[in-house]
Amino acid sequence: MSQSGDKKLPSETVGYVGFANLPNQVHRKSVKKGFEFTLMVVGESGLGKSTLINSLFLTDLYPERYIPGAAEKIERTVEIEASTVEIEERGVKLRLTVVDTPGYGDAIDSQDCFKTIIYYIDDQFERYLHDESGLNRRHIVDNRVHCCFYFISPFGHGLKPLDVEFMRALHGKVNIVPVIAKADTLTLKERERLKHRASIPFSVIGSNQLIEVKGKKIRGRLYPWGVVEVENPEHNDFLKLRTMLVTHMQDLQEVTQDLHYENFRSERLKRSGRPEREEVVDKDQILQQKEAELRRMQEMIAQMQAQMRMKPGDE
Ligand code: GDP
Repeated sequence: MSQSGDKKLPSETVGYVGFANLPNQVHRKSVKKGFEFTLMVVGESGLGKSTLINSLFLTDLYPERYIPGAAEKIERTVEIEASTVEIEERGVKLRLTVVDTPGYGDAIDSQDCFKTIIYYIDDQFERYLHDESGLNRRHIVDNRVHCCFYFISPFGHGLKPLDVEFMRALHGKVNIVPVIAKADTLTLKERERLKHRASIPFSVIGSNQLIEVKGKKIRGRLYPWGVVEVENPEHNDFLKLRTMLVTHMQDLQEVTQDLHYENFRSERLKRSGRPEREEVVDKDQILQQKEAELRRMQEMIAQMQAQMRMKPGDE
C-alpha cells in the first residue's frame, strides 16, 4: 500500500471542476470547512482509468507510474494507491483523494481482487470509528471512500462475471458508479446495447491531449476521420459524469455516512459485543468453580473438626 504525497494543482486549472457552483447553502458550509472527498477507481488495467481521472481533474496523478508487462500482470495482486490533490476554486477547498487499484482483474484467479478492496474500505471505516470515539473528534480526517467508479470494458459485450460479483459484494459498502470506458471504440449500436438507462452506465472517453479544432484548443482524441471531443455531450457522457460527481458530492458523502458507515458501525458493534458476552460467561463459570471449591474446602474443614472432636479414648 503506498500513499503518495499531497500535490497542489497549478493555478490555470482553477475554475475547472466547478464545485464552487454547488448550491449556496452547501457552498457556505464548504467554504468554512473545505471538502474532503475520496474517489476510488476500479477496473482492469488499460481501460483508461488514469486518463479519465486526469481529464476530470486536470492533473497528472501518476506521472511516474510504472506500467507492467503481460507476464507480470498474470502474477499481480491488487495494490492500493492513494493520491491526494488539493484544488481550490473561488475560496472553496477540495481535498480530493483518488484511490487506485492497479492489478484488479489481472491475476488468473481474480477472487482475491475484492478482498484487498473490501479490506481497504473497511479499514477506512474502522479508522473513522476509532477517531470518532477519540478525544479529537472535531478534526477527524475523513478518508472513507465516498464513491467508486467501476470501469466496464467496452470490448466484453456486456458485464463479465467478475463485474457482477464485484458489484454484488460491494454495493452495501460504497456508492458504485458504473462507467464504460473508451466509449469511442464502440459503434453507436454497441453503445446503446451496453447502456440500459438514459446515462447509466456513463459511457465516457478520456484524453491527456489538447487538439486544436477551429482555432480552439480542446481535449480530445484524434482519428484519421476526425476528433472525438471529451467535453462534447454529443460524443460521450464525460460532462454528465463530471456534473453528476460535482453536484452530488455532498449526497455521496451523506449516503456514505448515513448508510454505508452506519451499516459498518452496527455490524462492528455487534461483533465486538460478542467477546464481551463470552467474557461474562467465562467470569460466571470461574465464580461457580470457585464457589464449588470453597464448599468442598468448608466440608473438608468440617470433617477435620469433627475428627478432632472425637478424642482417641472415645472410641
Ligand atoms: P488504466 O490502466 O486503466 O489507468 O489506463 P490508461 O489511462 O493508462 O490508458 C491505457 C491506454 O488507453 C492509453 O494508451 C490511453 O491513451 C488509452 N486511452 C485512455 N482513454 C481512452 C479513451 O477514452 N479512448 C481510447 N480510444 N483510448 C483511451
